[in-house]
Formats: sequence, C-alpha cells, structure tokens
Amino acid sequence: MPVRTKVDRMSLTHTPDIIVIGGGIAGLSAAARLAPHSRVLVLEAEEALGHHASGRSAALYEPYYGSPAVVQLSLASGDYFRSIPGVLAPRGMLLVGREDQRAQFDSDLVRMEFDRVSLDEAVAMFPILNRDVAAHAGYAAHAEDIDTDLLLQGFAKTLRGAGGEIVTKARVSTIARTGAGWRVTWPDGEAEAALLVNAAGAWVDEVAKLAGVQPLGFVPNRRSMARIPAPGGLDVSNWPMVFGPGEDWYCKPDAGALIVSPAEEHPMEPHDAWADDMVLAEGLARYEEFVTEPVTRLLSNWAGLRTFAPDRSLVIGRDAREPAFFWLGGQGGQGFQSCAGASQLAADLILGAVPELSASLVASLDPARFG
Ligand SMILES: Cc1cc2nc3c(=O)[nH]c(=O)nc-3n(C[C@H](O)[C@H](O)[C@H](O)COP(=O)(O)OP(=O)(O)OC[C@H]3O[C@@H](n4cnc5c(N)ncnc54)[C@H](O)[C@@H]3O)c2cc1C
Repeated sequence: MPVRTKVDRMSLTHTPDIIVIGGGIAGLSAAARLAPHSRVLVLEAEEALGHHASGRSAALYEPYYGSPAVVQLSLASGDYFRSIPGVLAPRGMLLVGREDQRAQFDSDLVRMEFDRVSLDEAVAMFPILNRDVAAHAGYAAHAEDIDTDLLLQGFAKTLRGAGGEIVTKARVSTIARTGAGWRVTWPDGEAEAALLVNAAGAWVDEVAKLAGVQPLGFVPNRRSMARIPAPGGLDVSNWPMVFGPGEDWYCKPDAGALIVSPAEEHPMEPHDAWADDMVLAEGLARYEEFVTEPVTRLLSNWAGLRTFAPDRSLVIGRDAREPAFFWLGGQGGQGFQSCAGASQLAADLILGAVPELSASLVASLDPARFG
C-alpha cells in the first residue's frame, strides 16, 4: 500500500467517509440516509441539484408501475412520503383506449390495477375526452402527484443538517484506487473516502469506467415532454393523469397547464437531453386523437433520460468484484416514486443493518445478478 505523506493529505479538499457521485434524487436521498451515521460528501457536476432526470420528471407516484422489484420499492416508499406533509397530493389516473386497442387496454388495466369505468364517468373526469374515439376507460385512484422539489430539497436539507456536504460544479474527472479506498478529483477539488456511491444517473457506467469497475450495461432512454395551455381555457387542476394504452402518450395537469408526453423510449448516450421536434409532434398527434380540443401552441418543451439496467430493475449494492464501489443506478422512469425505499436499502447495506425489505427483493436488486 502506498504511504501517503502529510503534504499529500493536506492537498485534499475533503476527507469524508463516503463520497456520493450525483446530486439527483438517487444520490441526495441515499446521502441523507447515510449522513447521521457517516461523514458524507455529495459531488454534483452541474451548478444546480436535480439538473438532469430529476428536474424533468412527470412527478407521479404510481406504485404499480414498473418491474415487480420496482413496484415493491415504490410501495415501500409510500409511508415515508406520507410522513412529510405536502409531498403527495391526490391525482388519479385514467386509461383510455380505442376499440381496436382492446387487448393492450385489458392488459394495462390488470397490470396497473385500474378499475373499468364507463365513458360517461371518464368524460366527467376528463371533459375533453373524444367519445367518438375512446371506446374503453379505466380509473385508478392510487396515483398521486409527488412534489419532487420538496422531496429533493428535503433530502438536501436533511443531509446538510446532519453535517453532510454538497459540492456543485464538481464534475468528477478521475477516480483512483488507494490502499484505503478512493481518491476522487474534480476541477477544483479532490477527496479521499473509503466508499464510493455511484448515483450518476445516465452516467453510472461512465463513472464505473473512471473507477476501473466493469460497467453493467445501463441504457439511458430519452423521454420528451410538451407543456401546453389548458385546453379550451378549462380548469384542469382536478383532471386525472390520462394514458393511452401501451403508454404511447400521456397527459397530466401541471400548475394550470397540461404536460403531454409522447412517452418515447429512445436509447442514447448520456448527455443533456432535449426534445426532438418530430417525436413531440407525433406524440401530440396521438394525444389529440383522443381529445376534442386541438393543440394550438406549446408553452415549453424538454426531455430527460430514463436510465435502465438490462432487466429494468434498480441496481442497489456493492460491486461484486470491488466492494468499495456501491451501485445506485437504473432508476428508469420510477426514480422518485421508489427513492425512499431504494435509499433506505442502500443505507442499510452500506451501514451493515438488516434491510426491512425481503431477502429475495434485496437479491433481485444486487449488482451480482449480472454475473
Ligand atoms: C420525462 C420523464 C418523466 C418521468 N416521470 C417520472 C415520474 O412520474 N415518477 C418517477 O418516479 N420518476 C419519473 N421519471 C424518472 C426520474 O426522473 C428518474 O428516475 C430520476 O430522476 C433519476 O434520478 P437520478 O438521481 O438517478 O439521476 P439524475 O437526476 O440524472 O442525477 C444524476 C446526477 O449525476 C450527475 N453526474 C453524472 N456524472 C457525474 C460526474 N462525473 N461527476 C459529478 N456528477 C455527475 C449528473 O449531473 C446528475 O445531476 C421521469 C423521467 C423523465 C425523463
């Protein structure tokens, strides 16, 4: 083991126990859970927290959406969300389909625990539904809005309150193994810690490569969003979120306007994503088919990357070959709704506590499943 001199140590700007790379919901929630027990440093490349996927979501808590493991994590997150006033608010979710979409509609209805409702009931909830097109409707009350900013800033506050540190504009550029752990550098700082938590969102595999750890094959997928004025000038605030079958579009009230997504999954390299005009136009056309009010203009648009592991479940655990490297990736399209359960599990595994989640669920999230 190389002997570190006093001068070497003094050049370090930080000496925490744990370095978390990524200031999105994954990194901040895990850091907040760890901070009461360890000295934690969060490094975020951008100037603002939640700049990438975490600042671009649809902000929905729909616990039955995702792989079976994700569903369990999302269900396990509910109590935590409900313990903080204002994090969840009622929304509800409406599924609509054409006559020829019956098979997909029926499958979505069962998988996401919707109840079938009549078209009259659907129109009462979503007055612009086009009855000439929609033939089937289902409703689920269990979908709720998440105040994502409240959640994100809440975790950041908890972390700082427990003595943890966040450094922004700190894009990690080198990660070197030392005898005791890792030495991490960014343009104007460096730190050493025994454990590295990789919560870099779309960049998780890039961070692994920097550390000399085998990447696991994560794929960032772009999803775009358009924000349009309230259709027909109506009050949309109590409308449910509305989905087309097979999730080929959705819309959701958003502060007096409506967000509409083509719900695409287009694989791409990690980058600061933006919406593709053609994809948006096609998605808006799918939405417009089901409504009586045309889209006349866009207020804004954006896109984010939903990053999936090969089996579309989260990856939470120490690397099989490099135990000082902890993976917290693959949040896909459920990173907010699963964050309380996922971060608690990450903290339990790191701190050596027995997880409350079942052993089979923990094993299904372990990076060792990729061999
Ligand atoms: C359009 C859209 C709709 C969505 N809707 C929902 C929804 O309704 N409900 C839900 O639960 N989820 C939703 N999601 C998914 C959710 O937003 C993500 O799963 C979640 O935000 C991922 O969080 P993260 O912290 O892993 O990633 P990010 O928020 O991307 O954070 C990772 C951070 O790591 C930083 N980083 C990367 N490399 C480095 C480096 N070398 N050094 C320092 N920092 C680095 C990045 O700058 C980034 O800020 C949606 C996503 C999108 C795009």
